[in-house]
Amino acid sequence: MNNKVNTLSNTETFISLQECYTTEVINTSSMCIHELFEQQVESSPDEIAVVFLDVHSEGTQVGAFSDLSGLVLASHSRSISDKRKVNQQLTYRELNQQANQLAHYLRSLGVGPEVLVGICLERSLQMAIAILAVLKAGGAYVPLDPSYPLERLAFILEDTQAPILLTQEKFLPSLPNLSGKVICLDSDWQVIAQNSQENPINKTSPDNLIYVIYTSGSTGQPKGVMIPHKGIYNQLYWRQTSFKLTTADKVLQTISFSFDPSVWQIFWPLCFGAQLVMAHPEGHRDSAYLVKVICEQQITVMALVPSMLQVLLEEKGIENCQCLRHITCGGEALPVELIERFFERLCLDNVLFNCYGPTEASIDASFWKCQRGTNYLVAPIGCPITNTEIYILNEDLQPVAIGEPGELYIGGVGLARGYLKRPQLTAEKFIPHLFSQEPGARLYKTGDLVSYLPDSNIEFLGRIDQQLKIRGFRIELGEIEATLNQHPALKQTLVMAREDVPGNKRLVAYVVAHPEQVPSQSQLHRFLQDKLPEYMIPATFVFLDALPLNPNGKVDRRSLPAPESFIQKLTEFIVPSNSLELQLAQIWQQVLGIQSLGVKDHFFDLGGNSLLAMRLLIEINRKLGKSLPLSTFLMAQTIEQLANVLTDQEKSVPFSSLVPIQTAGTKPPLFLVHAMGGNVLFYRDLVKYLEPDQPVYGLQAQGLDGQQTPCTSIVEMASRYLQEIRQIQSHGPYFLAGFSFGGMVAFEMAQQLYAQGEEVAFLALLDTPSSLSGNTPANQLEKSQFFHLFKLLSLKPKDQLAYLWNRINWHFTVGKVSIFYQLYLRYIKRSPLDLQMLAVTWANHQAGTLYLPLIYPGKLTVFRASKSEIGLEIKPDLGWSHLASGGLESYEMPGSHATMIHEPNVKFLAEKLTICLQQARARLLNFF
Ligand code: AMP
Repeated sequence: MNNKVNTLSNTETFISLQECYTTEVINTSSMCIHELFEQQVESSPDEIAVVFLDVHSEGTQVGAFSDLSGLVLASHSRSISDKRKVNQQLTYRELNQQANQLAHYLRSLGVGPEVLVGICLERSLQMAIAILAVLKAGGAYVPLDPSYPLERLAFILEDTQAPILLTQEKFLPSLPNLSGKVICLDSDWQVIAQNSQENPINKTSPDNLIYVIYTSGSTGQPKGVMIPHKGIYNQLYWRQTSFKLTTADKVLQTISFSFDPSVWQIFWPLCFGAQLVMAHPEGHRDSAYLVKVICEQQITVMALVPSMLQVLLEEKGIENCQCLRHITCGGEALPVELIERFFERLCLDNVLFNCYGPTEASIDASFWKCQRGTNYLVAPIGCPITNTEIYILNEDLQPVAIGEPGELYIGGVGLARGYLKRPQLTAEKFIPHLFSQEPGARLYKTGDLVSYLPDSNIEFLGRIDQQLKIRGFRIELGEIEATLNQHPALKQTLVMAREDVPGNKRLVAYVVAHPEQVPSQSQLHRFLQDKLPEYMIPATFVFLDALPLNPNGKVDRRSLPAPESFIQKLTEFIVPSNSLELQLAQIWQQVLGIQSLGVKDHFFDLGGNSLLAMRLLIEINRKLGKSLPLSTFLMAQTIEQLANVLTDQEKSVPFSSLVPIQTAGTKPPLFLVHAMGGNVLFYRDLVKYLEPDQPVYGLQAQGLDGQQTPCTSIVEMASRYLQEIRQIQSHGPYFLAGFSFGGMVAFEMAQQLYAQGEEVAFLALLDTPSSLSGNTPANQLEKSQFFHLFKLLSLKPKDQLAYLWNRINWHFTVGKVSIFYQLYLRYIKRSPLDLQMLAVTWANHQAGTLYLPLIYPGKLTVFRASKSEIGLEIKPDLGWSHLASGGLESYEMPGSHATMIHEPNVKFLAEKLTICLQQARARLLNFF
């Protein structure tokens, strides 16, 4: 037998044992993870333990402007949201004290060993505090990713019966009705802070649970994997003894806490004195952001799935990430070609490791140090980690010979206790140990097909069942099929992963619908969106009259058509009409792996996803020398549209304020006006949840292209936008809305339409106050401040702070300095594009302060944020009643000014907006 067994010594700390990786001593004294952390707090109380990077570069363009509009327009939405935009950090002592306060509070509510506590939070300092607190109280945490659909969160909460849920106020609207106690770490903190800052007395043993993580389940529901402390202790022990972390290390936390690699990302640094650097919640999706963070923060340790490694290696500036000294790559097979590219781009030896392991074995069970110039095709998964046994067995549970394929079984301290409330499944997957005399010893049956290589490494060959990995996510096809089968219009479903082109694996659903009620692609998409996480939703649905069968009566998977042939049947196939379209088509073919595609095919319908979108833009940059932001995909999702964007860039075609966001449908279009930042990209979340046949056009500010002068008058702006919307809709009734500052512009547009004798059927103000009372002179930004900002941007980074210090310290008031400083943080070291946006923002700010709204003859619909971030009273009508002679309807929406327009709150806004639009249309019908 070629398995290795490495075991722990019974010494209490890891660090003293770092040399003992290969010793074979039985471990008898593992500790709980919070004890390890507390030990570390003792040794480095004043070192930084955790940093949260609250600024997301790409998102700044999209999100910051809606925030910025709040900053200067609406006084009730200032303060906290803006402070949040500065990186936050805690020392070991601070983190420990806050976690202790929460732990004592949890204890007072009955949390102790084996009690499950749900945590529904995004990446943040609160997440680190919450996880540690649950463990210190003695309980085990159940991660609930707030981006998951309501039904999935509801299932997990129901399944675990967690008596307590830790969250923040902003997530409450996206949570199901809860039977247990909900603690909001923001609004309830005053109560929590009354508890002791001392470590609670430990009540937990290494055999107690540390977490329950849910993974996809083949029978239609996810299953909770129960992991005890000792498995994670072993994982950390192996990591620390193999790749010792020091206080100089910084570990980047990018993986959602619903997946187990997040566990080492969080605890490895915290238990060994390094820094845990938590990326912005959206950051892990954005390769440019990751490269920037690695370089700026001097990250030394990170984890990646191979598909993300591939994208990252194509990113500009990746070669500068020389600070990296350990990268765990895992979650799916790692092609050797990618390893070679890693060495080419980064030239870092002894840094990249291929790690393998299922959630059921406490993260990683084996590893292999990636090397150059090997003869492998796919990276071996190497040898077992400390205290872990690997067996490769045939169907008769007999060990196989070198080179022979067999199923991989795992034994050792890392094994999960089993699946929560699923004794049968647990017994099926965790079988009695075949080769150990130890009472209760078990083996976990992984379902992975592997073989021994002559050099004693293990080669990964694939799966023996329907489980698969897409972009590192574990997916049971049975779960997607079972969910799709709940759709009343479908008779039969079959979901499979297709890799018609190497490197582009995507989920395809084949469905047979009842002839009288065939649903559309988007209806099926939405149906699944409510139930499954985004990564489990098929890229394409193929409608068939019947599933093809083989002579045995089973579905003949091989004769299922490739979705591209199906897509061509649906859309008009139009070939490229010029060389730019042809070049783009070639790039699309390469990235999507589809040979024949039409210039009108939609990127996402062809199986595109955010990773592929990033790769596409990188390729466009490389081959055509043009750089486009990721947000281009909001407006241009076909080759034809992308070609137009590029041509407009080149020809400087007159800038248009009108941005088609969603053109399908016969309903009257809804026009959404930009906020203070001038951009309309932040409306993408809202539009996603409107009716699929509701056409939506955005109006973006003049000057965003850097060519024209930004407009400083709302009256002028409104008149220009009206000229543009007339190209789409020559006469009323019009449907208008605007968020924040955009509401003011929409209001003026409606005024002008009325004056021209046109009808306005609907005018919605999305958290727009009627006057800029918040802009007292002290809070207003002066042109001179903007001037300084521009000047700053043109200086070298090293001179910027000095400049800032000299100018601001002497000439500005404290209030202004704070605003200026926030702007400085936001824009410093940014591109010329940001400069243009800054100019637009300033122009809008000026326009807003000069505008005097007059009495409006029609009706106003006001949507106001429920939460005032600095505790000011919010007027239900936001001050508009006296200006609306046709009446006013007002609705309170979950969230604050900054958050009501984004996930998860935006769903509620979209729902209410949809109803209001329907009512407005109905009123028109009654009228005629
Ligand atoms: P999860 O429970 O999400 O960690 O998924 C575990 C499964 O992912 C394993 O059973 C394998 O099928 C696959 N897997 C994980 N790491 C690797 C790797 N390095 N190479 C190939 N497959 C992997």
